[in-house]
Order: sequence, then C-alpha cells, then structure tokens
Amino acid sequence: MNKEIRTRFAPSPTGIMHIGNIRTALLNLLFTRQKSGTFVLRIEDTDPARMFDPGAKKIISDLKWLSLNFDEGPDIGGPYAPYFQSERMPIYNEKLKELQKLGGTYRCFCSEEELEKKRTRQIAMKKPPRYEKTCLHLSQKEIDQNLADGKSFIWRMNLDPSKSVTIKDLAKGMVKFELENFTDFPLTRKDGTFTFMFANFVDDMTMKISHVFRGEDHLSNTAGQAALFEAFNVPLPTFWHMPMICNTEGKKLSKRDFGFSLDDLKNTGFLPEAINNYLAIIGGSFVEEIMSQEDLIKTLNFEHVGSTNRVSYDVEKLKWINHKWIDRYPKEKLEKLCRPFLEKQYPAAKQISEERLSGIIQLIKSDLVVLSDIVKVLSFLFEKPTNINVKIAEQISEENLRTIKEIVNSNLNLLSAPHEFIEKLKITAKEKNIGLKNLFIFLRIALTGEPKGPGIAELVEILGETEAKSRIQS
Ligand code: GLU
Repeated sequence: MNKEIRTRFAPSPTGIMHIGNIRTALLNLLFTRQKSGTFVLRIEDTDPARMFDPGAKKIISDLKWLSLNFDEGPDIGGPYAPYFQSERMPIYNEKLKELQKLGGTYRCFCSEEELEKKRTRQIAMKKPPRYEKTCLHLSQKEIDQNLADGKSFIWRMNLDPSKSVTIKDLAKGMVKFELENFTDFPLTRKDGTFTFMFANFVDDMTMKISHVFRGEDHLSNTAGQAALFEAFNVPLPTFWHMPMICNTEGKKLSKRDFGFSLDDLKNTGFLPEAINNYLAIIGGSFVEEIMSQEDLIKTLNFEHVGSTNRVSYDVEKLKWINHKWIDRYPKEKLEKLCRPFLEKQYPAAKQISEERLSGIIQLIKSDLVVLSDIVKVLSFLFEKPTNINVKIAEQISEENLRTIKEIVNSNLNLLSAPHEFIEKLKITAKEKNIGLKNLFIFLRIALTGEPKGPGIAELVEILGETEAKSRIQS
C-alpha cells in the first residue's frame, strides 16, 4: 500500500450517474490500483438543489454494480470521516477561521442587485465580469456598523492580482494561472453554508488527496482552489483535467443522448465490464481493446495521457465491446441476466427452466449485442410465425419451392438429430440443383417467420422436434 497516493471520486447526489461521472470514478480507481494507493468516495451534498439521492444510496449501489470499489467512504468509514460534506461543517468553519487569520478572506456585504448591476456594466464595457474587491476596502468601523445593522454577508477569497499559481496537470504539464484573471470567489453563502469551491478544497486538503482527476470543465475552479492551497501553505495535488465526453456531433453529451445515464445502459442490457472497458479506452489507442479491470490496471499509462480536450462517445463502439463481453460470459450468468428482459415481454418464459434457457442462450449468444436483444432473437419461440407462405413466395420461385418442399418433407424423420437433418438436406439439394441459400431461407421463414436469424440446427434445437416439425409442415 502506497500511503502517499490518495484519490477521490466526489459526486453530488443528483440521482443520476452519467457516463462522465463513471469515467471520472473509473480512471481515478484504475490509477489508484496501479499505484497501490487509496481510493476515497466523498459525497458533495451541500447544495439542496442537487440533493436527490439521500444517503447516496444510488451512487453506492451503482459503483458496486460497476465494481468500482472504494477504500474509504460513507458506508465503510475511514480515517478522514465523515465522508458526507453535510457532516463536515465544523471542519469548514475551522478552516475558514484559519484563513481569516492568514488574511486570505474578507466579508462582502454587497447585495445581489448591486452585484448584478456591476456585472451588467462590466459586460457592456466588454470587461470580464469580476468582483471589484469593493468590500475589501471597508474600514473596521464600516464593517462593525454593517454587522450591527444586521446586514447579511458572505466570505470571499482574497486573491492577490499581482500573483500567479502554477499547477501540474497530467495532460497539460505545468499550467500557470495569472490571478488577475480570476474573481474573488465566494467561500460561503449568505445562510452561512459553504460553497463548492471552499468545501471541495478543504476536503481535498484535509483528506490528504494527492491526485485530483476531474473534468476539463473544472479547470478555472482549479485556479481558485490552487490559490487556496497556497494561502494555507500546503502542497498542491497533481491534477488531471480529463477531456469532456461529447456526442458524435461534437456537442457536450446531454440527457437527450442515448446512453447518457447508467440507468439507460443498464435497462438496455449493457454489461458493467463493457461500460468500464469502453470508458477506459475511449480516446486512446490500444492493440488489444477488450480489457478487464485487471488488464486496464496493468495497461493504462498515466505518465503519457493525451492532451485532447474532448473525446467522442460512440455508442456503436460501446455495443461492439458489449457484444465481445457477452461472448465471454458463461451461459448460466447470461441466463440470469437475460431472463428478466424475456419474462417482461413474454410471461410464458417463466415456464422455461434455467437449464433449458441457458442451453438456448448458448446457441444464440452470438446474436446478442445487448442483453435486451434476447427478446427479439427469441420472439419466434413465443410467437408462431404468420404469413409464412407469402413471405416464402417473395423469396423463392414456385418451381424451386416445390422441389425444396419435397426434399424437406422426405427428410422430416431426421429432425430429432438437427445437424444430421441439415447435412442430409444439403446433399439432396445439391443433387437436385437447389441453392443452399434458398433452402435455408425456406426453413428459417417456416420456423421463425424471418429470413435471417440463428442457424437452422439451432432453431430446431431451441423449438424442439415436435414444434419444429409442425411449423415446417404447416
Ligand atoms: N461535486 C463535484 C462534481 O460533481 C466534484 C468535482 C471534483 O471532482 O472536484 O462536479
């Protein structure tokens, strides 16, 4: 165990785990495991407007489902508990007092209306909107008067505009921020609660986080928080501002894009290994793309991470990886996962034993891209095909059809051994000059109503001899 390496995943309990969150958690975890460090889960629940998952139960169960296991966190505790920000108020108060002593903060009594007016004026003058340190210049007497009048206030960070801060970023290298380009951001709200900027910083500092990997969209927050680390004279963590995930049109991924939330993916039947695998390799290039968590820990190179700002989320690629992972799963496990999809659509599936269903799945698993495909692939088992004669007539000439029917009918007695049946049909068809394609289309339509699908022998096995015979004869 490397005590120096400490990372964290710090989601807000918004009720939605989306793929951006998952990727952040995943890369933090893979890095930490590679370096034998400690991975912390911290819940940033100080904003009531983002509080939809009390106790972070959904976050915890989603992480479990993805096998992204943390070493310290809400339900398991750890040396830096508590891991809910809402329970860490005394710590933030204490650190605010320290910052006051260091001269790093001041009270701001400006009202929202005043601030809004100034902002509008600055924008009109084509200046970047920034707090102009008005309240920094209040005399002690004015401050006392405001307090005596019961005027509400917030604490602001006192940035020194003549200074700069430099951070180390895994992708960008050393990044320097001139503080004159940043505003004296709020540390508290008027109700005395703490802002994301301050609480998130205090936690990273007090939890001794050594590496902060988060989305590129946090880069300007990092500047302010780096100034906080310096104000406390504490070494900065190493950062990695990870590229934002965009849709294939290059726009930031949103709720409207399919596969944005983990629930979308789960409900369609994507496997956790496939989701992790895809999100870990997105934007990179690897000789062998199908990798388990263990493989990823061994393979990923955090010394050389790409410096692109965006990566594109390609559901088709994710599907391809899912297909590969389905292929790796044993049939018994697939049976358990596929069954709910099937039973929801076809309650009759409840009558199929575990053994029979896993046998069936073994035969058709190469046709599954996502688990919910089971419904489409096995629909023929529950719904008798209709309009067969019309469909067959569309594909096969009358003359050929007559011969095919003869060949098939004269061999129906072989149906109990489907592979022999097919072999025999093939030989006879050749003798009679019938293309195999036509022969198989005939059988497939007779058995399922569709010209494409699983192999004929598999179909016969799945339906059973009696049902297959009756469908062919009809
Ligand atoms: N709660 C923040 C978020 O979900 C955490 C950002 C960070 O990782 O520092 O965006």
